[in-house]
Amino acid sequence: MVVTRTPLIAGNWKMNLDHLQAIAFVQKLDWALKDAKHDFASVEVAVFPPFTDLRSVQTLVSADKIEFAYGAQDLSAHASGAYTGEISGAFLSALGCGYVLVGHSERRQYHGETDELIAAKVKAAIAHGLVPVICVGETAGDLEEHGASAVPVAQLEAALAGLPKGADIVVAYEPVWAIGSGQAATPEQAEQVALPLRAVVGRVLGDAAAAKTRILYGGSVGASNIAGFMREPNIDGALVGGASLKINDFSAIIRYQKHVGV
Ligand code: PEP
Repeated sequence: MVVTRTPLIAGNWKMNLDHLQAIAFVQKLDWALKDAKHDFASVEVAVFPPFTDLRSVQTLVSADKIEFAYGAQDLSAHASGAYTGEISGAFLSALGCGYVLVGHSERRQYHGETDELIAAKVKAAIAHGLVPVICVGETAGDLEEHGASAVPVAQLEAALAGLPKGADIVVAYEPVWAIGSGQAATPEQAEQVALPLRAVVGRVLGDAAAAKTRILYGGSVGASNIAGFMREPNIDGALVGGASLKINDFSAIIRYQKHVGV
């Protein structure tokens, strides 16, 4: 079965840029990509602003016919009700979100998100028509104790438990030690984990899903190292934190096919 996966370059803004700054940023990114004649059919682009920016981003994207996708950085496991401070996937869908990050290591670490909660959030995302970008990755301690793939594989198995065959997901492999550290994994290290992650998708969601699911690498991705990751057969894009907040860097990452041979 030959399936081509459209690469996805996704920018996680974390808790940066308010709604006014988001408008200016999205306009500038759009101009930069339009100037460069970026072909969105060959490399898909998505941004993940804070919740409070989403309505402004939606309005701008529809008014200016902007071709990139956007999503939220988290969602509630619940559809509605007495859950103060939570945001339902239904609200995100109503704002035109296509994607939602689930289980980012900062949510696991600072908000105590467990594998069970993450599995419930993945189900909630799918129930509301959102594609969950399921983040998995080992800490430096996990790496030393269990090797690179054991923890991400276990996290992904837990996140996918109970999903129907063929469910539409994206996986982001993000070694925790590489996030924001300036010390990215090597492309070979990332591929060594991406391969067993694809096998998990195959076991749980079936071979067709394994063939079409995009697996992103995240952790200190920049313009100078993106091409190496994109040469690996099981890596289909990147989840970018810090560099996604700089127009020149992010657009150079998106245009990796142009400035370096892949
Ligand atoms: C992230 O937070 O998902 C991330 C990959 O951050 P950075 O690119 O800054 O390492």
